[in-house]
Amino acid sequence: MTKYSGYMGKVLMVDLSKSLISEYPWSDEDRELYIGAKAMASKIMFDNFTGKETAFSEDNLIIVSTGPLTGTGAPCSNRFNISTLSPLTGITTSSNCGGNFGYYLKKAGIDALVIRGKCPVPTWIEIKNDKFFFHEAGDLWGMKVSQSQEELQRRMNEARKCRVKCGMLSIGPAGENMVKYAAVISGERAAGRAGVGAVFGSKNLKAMVATGNHEVPVFDPEKTTKLYQKWTETLRKHPLTGNQLPKMGTAGLVSPMQMRGILSTRNYAYGQYEHFDKVSGEVLAEDYNIVNKGCMSCPIKCARTVNVEGQEVKGPELETLGLLGGGIMNDNLELILKWNYELDELGMDTISAASTLAWAMEANEQGLWKNGLSFGKTANISKTFENIAYRRGIGNELAEGSRWLSEKYGGKDFAIQSKGLELAAYEPRRSVGQGLGYAVSNRGGCHLNGGYLVIVENLGLNADPQTPHAKADLCMLMQDLMESVSMTGQCLFTSYAVFPSFLISKPNSVVTKTVNKVIPFLGPVVRILNKFPGIASFHLFLLPHTKAIEYATGMKCNLARFIRAGERSYNVERAVNAKFGVSAAMDTLPKRLTNVPQDPKDPSTKVPLEVMKKVYYEARGWDKNGLPTEEKLRKMKII
Ligand code: SF4
Repeated sequence: MTKYSGYMGKVLMVDLSKSLISEYPWSDEDRELYIGAKAMASKIMFDNFTGKETAFSEDNLIIVSTGPLTGTGAPCSNRFNISTLSPLTGITTSSNCGGNFGYYLKKAGIDALVIRGKCPVPTWIEIKNDKFFFHEAGDLWGMKVSQSQEELQRRMNEARKCRVKCGMLSIGPAGENMVKYAAVISGERAAGRAGVGAVFGSKNLKAMVATGNHEVPVFDPEKTTKLYQKWTETLRKHPLTGNQLPKMGTAGLVSPMQMRGILSTRNYAYGQYEHFDKVSGEVLAEDYNIVNKGCMSCPIKCARTVNVEGQEVKGPELETLGLLGGGIMNDNLELILKWNYELDELGMDTISAASTLAWAMEANEQGLWKNGLSFGKTANISKTFENIAYRRGIGNELAEGSRWLSEKYGGKDFAIQSKGLELAAYEPRRSVGQGLGYAVSNRGGCHLNGGYLVIVENLGLNADPQTPHAKADLCMLMQDLMESVSMTGQCLFTSYAVFPSFLISKPNSVVTKTVNKVIPFLGPVVRILNKFPGIASFHLFLLPHTKAIEYATGMKCNLARFIRAGERSYNVERAVNAKFGVSAAMDTLPKRLTNVPQDPKDPSTKVPLEVMKKVYYEARGWDKNGLPTEEKLRKMKII
């Protein structure tokens, strides 16, 4: 139980080996320190992992967790998190998903599930108002994602003789066959990165369905409703969340990225793709978009539907457009729509699938691995994806990801990954702060866990993208803020509105230009805020998350506590990774990005990683090996 609203007060341990459910101890003090979602999962992993577990061992945990704002009506708040040990990286991973499972988990009266063990046979789990039913899933095993979810809905309806409102998640063939970058899909949305689906497969867990009739309690309903209304208006008026994202989704970033030279092209050899205009957000919106869609409770609605072979299905995000477009030298948008759909149906991360493919094309070209794949040759790619999901032929090796392949065949310098996780589509040699983020990110080459500095350097503001100055401190601040937003159960896009509208909509104004010029000199100021967040013991109008926590839960919150919680979350995640051997030596990027200038005539167009890393560790108060000290962990109340 809990004294705080916003939570259901129940965290449950699910032992798959014995089909047993028990309470997992999670106190109000834990809630104050870790808020919820990803941060709570990291702390649970920290408390339970010894460093001997592996992704596919039975003692690996899968933690499915929600935040306190999930189900309270806050904008973009019905998201949930899945954390586990990743088979792709061997360290922690977390994947945030906008599907409906989190909302219905709370309707079932549960904040989080801590899943361990392994089902003796393929199984799907039904959760109804915190009662658990373990059903055999032998007949679902082998089904693609939408077929299995439709079948589960049919079974739920049939058992109750009515249309049952429920949330579900499931894996596809890729998860069943433990493809190292298999995803978990909830509705149409994916918990995509680093192989969470493969861990489900290793545990014989095909799907989970949650339903219930609990209401999420809200501490001060009147203030909460008013705040949410105002917040929704703010998001709708903001140029990023009210215009760019609803109009074109993340796909709208293709053109600005091309302009700024950060659109990954030909396996990251270049930052611009000559046929970008054929695979851009504009073409997608004009010629293919049927309707804008969004996750539950989202006023932004950045997703869109497209037509693939007569069916209305989810359209691709920027990462998929970039990596399956210029990344493999393909200018056929229709093919990308089709592949995006096929990958979702197979239950596979589009980023890692595309990037592994690009590596394989280059390895073939260089004679390192004769595999028949070539840049621009698109005829057999659908078949290749299927072969990966079913681990047939070369698909069996492609299923291991680019790091594994480059260790086997050579070609590490152009395996575009960090800690085993393939990078997103933002080419960091013209966004060096983003490059730092990719390298130090706790889950490997992730643009979001890395702090998403590309928005400050290129895609929102335009603060000198080649200078390392201030980037380490900004990277830490952005990482911590994004951790905090995640903890609430909200979409990270809500944090876009932290940038004042006029800076985004008037990029050539004197004020915006001055701000861009000043940012690289702000390192010491940001360092003070990072070190002493107590100076920010107030609410910031542009970041209503802190008030939302207070009004919805009754828990004390302000900017200072919010930043501190984010920092704690980042540190505890790093401390889990330390148990699995992570240190500064693993905070790397492939040499293509650190040693080879993107523009051969401009030596500054590469990532000066070592310079920034040193400052970053200092800013974080970590030791020279890039790890939080015992003193640091104590200070943060982690131990
Ligand atoms: S902004 Fe996009 S990803 Fe975020 S909650 Fe809305 S629809 Fe989902």
